[in-house]
Amino acid sequence: MRTSEHYHEDLRAMRPNVYMGGKLVKRDDPRIMPGINVMKITFDMAKDPQNAELFTATSQYTKKKINRFCNVSDSVEDLLTKQKMIRTGARLSGFCIQRCMGTDTINALSIVTKEIDDANGTEYYQRFLEFIKGYQRKDQIAAAVQTDAKGDRSKRPHEQADPDMYVRVVKQTKDGIIVRGAKEDITMASYCDELIILPTRTLTKDEKQWAVSFAVPADWKNVHIINRASAPRERKYLKAPLNTYGSSDALVIFDDTFVPWDRVFMCGEYEFGGRMALAFAASHRHSYCGCKPAVEDIIMGLIALAAEYYGVADKHHIREKLAHLAGIAELIYAAGVAAAVDSTKASSGTQIPNPIYANVGRRLAGENTYDSWGKVADVAGGFPVTMPFEEDYYHKKMGPFINKYTVRNPKVSAENMHRLQRTLSDYLSSSWAGVWQVADMHGGGSPVMETIAILSNYDFEERKKVVKRLAGIKD
Ligand SMILES: Cc1cc2nc3c(=O)[nH]c(=O)nc-3n(C[C@H](O)[C@H](O)[C@H](O)COP(=O)(O)OP(=O)(O)OC[C@H]3O[C@@H](n4cnc5c(N)ncnc54)[C@H](O)[C@@H]3O)c2cc1C
Repeated sequence: MRTSEHYHEDLRAMRPNVYMGGKLVKRDDPRIMPGINVMKITFDMAKDPQNAELFTATSQYTKKKINRFCNVSDSVEDLLTKQKMIRTGARLSGFCIQRCMGTDTINALSIVTKEIDDANGTEYYQRFLEFIKGYQRKDQIAAAVQTDAKGDRSKRPHEQADPDMYVRVVKQTKDGIIVRGAKEDITMASYCDELIILPTRTLTKDEKQWAVSFAVPADWKNVHIINRASAPRERKYLKAPLNTYGSSDALVIFDDTFVPWDRVFMCGEYEFGGRMALAFAASHRHSYCGCKPAVEDIIMGLIALAAEYYGVADKHHIREKLAHLAGIAELIYAAGVAAAVDSTKASSGTQIPNPIYANVGRRLAGENTYDSWGKVADVAGGFPVTMPFEEDYYHKKMGPFINKYTVRNPKVSAENMHRLQRTLSDYLSSSWAGVWQVADMHGGGSPVMETIAILSNYDFEERKKVVKRLAGIKD
């Protein structure tokens, strides 16, 4: 397994193809570092004796010990442990541990490449096996490169005025394929090793050229990454772990990119496009059932601590809010547990989380995002968004005034009150907070996408039969 230092060195050795703020930048640009620091947690935890059991697994392919983020789940236990690891990781990073993106893409590939081969006698699964063994041995990080530009949302890929609105194969040669298009919002693209590309949606027989899945190193020729980084505000005096973390999301351009056949996992099998998209979605929404409870954990911690520091911990509306949030957190988590316990086995042996439980959990999380943060804003009061800048707290003349007038509970020092309110400010009113609140709504699929997944998997006819029997209705 890699160390976080080794990972950082590997990033530094990559070909520069990341653009940000109008310039070609290095992968360890200071604005990208906060995302890299989150990745480092995943390497450090795998080496940490207290967390190694959670953050490592035994590969079903090589029988070797690997980082659990590189694992393809082949048991209920694996799914349960992945979910628990993600909740632990997201608590440590303060929001999203990010690396599960790659975990969920390799799980989807393991399922669907085998199913295509079973149906068509192709060799995608063998290619996947070669790929995954190298990926696990090198302890790599992959970005999940799924969301296409999509153009006019009311039109299918083959109906778009510009066919490049969904990533497509423009040419096939004896050595590989040439792809063109763009994928947007791609988290970690600027600090991952591999980009794994999956279709976004179900496809029809008119859409063979859009039925494409492949992996390329993130610095591959004719791949351009246009990055946007976000992080909590930098601290000058009050250094805190949260302010070392952050993330990056990118528009990834495939500029007639050549992909050799051994890295192509789907090419033209339109009837498996939706299967691949949904296999990833089920796995990723199961992962969300680990990370969103962690976000609710942080929300509850912020509220409980603010209430204590403000002297209102015992008030009814605070306790009511905490009970409600505990319910949301644990129902999301319980949906993930149910998805694992009621999972099924794919023909490849990969354990597939139950899609209904994974989707209802993710939907509950997405729909409650702003309500949960609204509760934090309520308890935080106004000062965290109007408080003076950090330097003013350390000004010789003004600092003592600020410290005197911001103390509320006399048992809590002025510095700790400052720390909490600045953290509340980061979570409620920084540009980073805005990005992550939208991510909690849309990442892994907007609530409407979970609705579609639930409606297509759920048996409402069965429910009608229940009522017909109760009502004595005989057809
Ligand atoms: C911070 C962040 C990180 C992300 N990371 C990744 C990542 O790593 N990899 C990745 O692949 N994706 C990633 N995503 C993308 C995410 O999966 C998408 O944002 C999500 O799937 C929604 O797609 P969209 O943004 O294109 O929204 P849109 O499709 O533009 O949706 C906007 C609105 O239009 C509605 N709508 C769209 N199409 C239809 C339709 N046909 N019928 C009815 N209503 C419709 C939606 O319901 C929604 O209300 C990330 C997103 C964010 C915000």
